[in-house]
Amino acid sequence: MGSRDILVVSAHAADYCTRAGGTIARYARAGWSVHVIVLTYGARGESGGYWKSSPDGTVEECEAIRQAESQAAADVLGATIEFCGFKDYPLIIDEDRTRMLTRRVLDIRPEIVLTHWLDDPTNVDHQVTSRAVVRAVTNASQIGSFPSTPAHHFPNLYFFESTVPMSEFNNFSPDTYIDIDETYEVKAEAIKRFACQPQLVFYYQHFATHRGFQAANWAKRTIQYAEGFVRYLPLVRTAFPLTEREPQQETERR
Ligand SMILES: [Zn+2]
Repeated sequence: MGSRDILVVSAHAADYCTRAGGTIARYARAGWSVHVIVLTYGARGESGGYWKSSPDGTVEECEAIRQAESQAAADVLGATIEFCGFKDYPLIIDEDRTRMLTRRVLDIRPEIVLTHWLDDPTNVDHQVTSRAVVRAVTNASQIGSFPSTPAHHFPNLYFFESTVPMSEFNNFSPDTYIDIDETYEVKAEAIKRFACQPQLVFYYQHFATHRGFQAANWAKRTIQYAEGFVRYLPLVRTAFPLTEREPQQETERR
């Protein structure tokens, strides 16, 4: 099996791990290269633990801690990670940043891109990230997007879980579930690295169980933990993809 690539774009330090960590670990174990781009550290909006314990702290110190946490979690999952260092709450994506993301899609040439869901009105940084990634992916599909790089690229795009537990408010309804029973413990271990967000351990155990319950009912087999996704771009195949009614071995899956 040759190495294939997945790109995961995360608004804040922990988002990629909490929403797609089990899937990332599955693909990494199966020999895929998983690249994570973290746009901001989430210092102002998603680092409550830091500010509670460090009322005289600074954004710069918080960002350094969040970067270390996020790097440690990626190491646990088996992914490579890069940090853009943009400011959060609010995250602003301008023309240069959109072109940077397009450039990374063309450099990495991932078969799959994972990012935030389109509608996340209580966390606009997530929504901004989603729309920027849609732009980057569709821009990368155009010949001439970077004239010196004539080879365009058009990956499969999936959105991961919106801000939890507001899925219904955010109109997030998964059409794809990834069974993460084999990597759930790895994901749980990675989430513990985010000491500045101690609530994540409970939130995402609850949600992995919730999505696993749904996935088990759709597949009519035992699944304890799952992650939910929404596919954005249409599938083009020679046959319909099938739900896996029996557990799949990694070597059989791809
Ligand atoms: Zn976030």
